[in-house]
Amino acid sequence: MEQLNHPTTETAVQKVNLLGLDLEALVDFCAQLGEKRFRATQLYRWIHQRGVADFDAMSDLAKSLRTKLKECAEVVALPVLTEQVSRDGTIKWLFDVGGGDAVEAVYIPERDRATLCISSQAGCAIGCRFCSTGHQGFSRNLKTWEIVAQLWYAEHELRRRFESPERKVSNVVMMGMGEPLQNFNQLVPALKTMLDDNAFGLSRRRVTVSTSGIVPMMDRLSQSAPVALAVSLHAPTDPLRDHLVPLNKKYPIEELLAACHRYLEYAPRDFITFEYCMLAGMNDSVENARTLVEILSGNGQGTGWFKLNLIPFNPFPESGLLCSSPQAVQAFAKVLLDAGVVTTVRKTRGDDIDAACGQLAGEVKDRTQAVVRMQKKRNGESVEALRVG
Ligand code: SF4
Repeated sequence: MEQLNHPTTETAVQKVNLLGLDLEALVDFCAQLGEKRFRATQLYRWIHQRGVADFDAMSDLAKSLRTKLKECAEVVALPVLTEQVSRDGTIKWLFDVGGGDAVEAVYIPERDRATLCISSQAGCAIGCRFCSTGHQGFSRNLKTWEIVAQLWYAEHELRRRFESPERKVSNVVMMGMGEPLQNFNQLVPALKTMLDDNAFGLSRRRVTVSTSGIVPMMDRLSQSAPVALAVSLHAPTDPLRDHLVPLNKKYPIEELLAACHRYLEYAPRDFITFEYCMLAGMNDSVENARTLVEILSGNGQGTGWFKLNLIPFNPFPESGLLCSSPQAVQAFAKVLLDAGVVTTVRKTRGDDIDAACGQLAGEVKDRTQAVVRMQKKRNGESVEALRVG
């Protein structure tokens, strides 16, 4: 856990942002203040269940504890640079994470659920060819508190907005900017706060980590926080996947699939989801679909252990790639369905605000734009929510 910095006469106190502590870390933190475990649990509930940041409002905490907390701790959200609301109800927030970087979170309401897609890194080092974040390059890992802050803000802001204490985010997917498993040490405490009944209380089935396939970290995740897993596959052969997802050169398909099978022993669901971005003339032929079925169901493994999620590509100029035609997607899906594979074609949401999959960071890509916005904000100029549609 982060160490408490005790005040000295010469240096200002570096306050600990409690959004970054999972319950066990908060228990340790409170122990350093001479407080018992149940106080940490109370504090954790105030922060995450009720969205309270002001220690003085935490009425059942002893006044002495509130005073101590004010000296060495804080609950601080990420500043919101912009908010965009799509015609279909999708909301995209751009958060300022300092140093000219910004990350995005996307809220996707549906009839029976509301999913928040959140970011784990500013930029991404994996460099998938079809991903606009990948083209942006890597800036830095987010801290635990910066990952949690996206959920904390969305959940409590929406409750305030709808004037309802009901849960607003029912599912979280780590599919925003970044490769979550490259930021493992900051990710795991964030997942624990999402899952903890004293915080957001989401079931492991409703929290999904999406990875491009960092095999050793998939094994570690299965031991540390075995939430649902989605794997960005995007190609049925190594040469093609080497081209689309360069990480494949390090962890080729066979190794990746073996890791998926190991993960299944700990997963909250009895299947792994494979994501497959449909790229015209690149990976979308009927032959590609047949090979995909072969590699996934070969060796007598069958088709019951995985699902395929076909994602329409959202083109951006730097990629040089095009989206598959609806006919190609249909023909591809038919091969999978005929083979008994559970297959979905992802609906495009929020495309009027560039919130569709693979479009995150469209605005951030131009760092100067984000920096200019931040400077405007510092100068007190209006950085108003953008409302689209
Ligand atoms: S698809 Fe995911 S892993 Fe690949 S570059 Fe984009 S953010 Fe990174």
